[in-house]
Amino acid sequence: MQINVSQQLKASIGSIRNYELNEVVDIANGSSLVQGKISLMRTDRSILVKGVLHTEVEVTCSRCLSLFSYPLTLNVEEEYFPTTDVVSGASLPLPEEPGCFTIDEHHILDLTEAIRQYVLLATPMKPLCREDCAGLCPHCGHNLNQGPCGCLPREVDPHWSELNKLALASDIVVNEQKDKE
Ligand SMILES: [Zn+2]
Ligand SMILES: [Zn+2]
Repeated sequence: MQINVSQQLKASIGSIRNYELNEVVDIANGSSLVQGKISLMRTDRSILVKGVLHTEVEVTCSRCLSLFSYPLTLNVEEEYFPTTDVVSGASLPLPEEPGCFTIDEHHILDLTEAIRQYVLLATPMKPLCREDCAGLCPHCGHNLNQGPCGCLPREVDPHWSELNKLALASDIVVNEQKDKE
């Protein structure tokens, strides 16, 4: 995801170059193929990167815990600031903005970190393998998307059944006391 922009840094303000991306990028938990088109525009102080990229990440369904591919569309728009003057080789002051992206001293613009950040932002916190994912049986852990398990249907809410057990236990104590009388 590296582009040498030394020629474009010498170009006039407003000049645009288009690139087609088709590269594997290391993202959080694995590598993903990233594809799409981006344009780089020379501005008075930077190179402005704009484009739409497509990729897929491997995620875990929050209900049934199965792994599946989740497609992402990234609307990228980032400014990259040169750290070295392309003509004189002198180092340039960076803008005040914290965490801004830079073009290194060899005039390489590296999109990897930006793509990583866009992917993290676009990935859902609680992904579902499908809208109506049936999840796992709370008793045996069977994946209910693959059909019903052997567990008997239980109508009693588990919280109530705990209370029932307590109620039974206190009944026994009461009965024991009655026996002693
Ligand atoms: Zn699922
Ligand atoms: Zn079950």
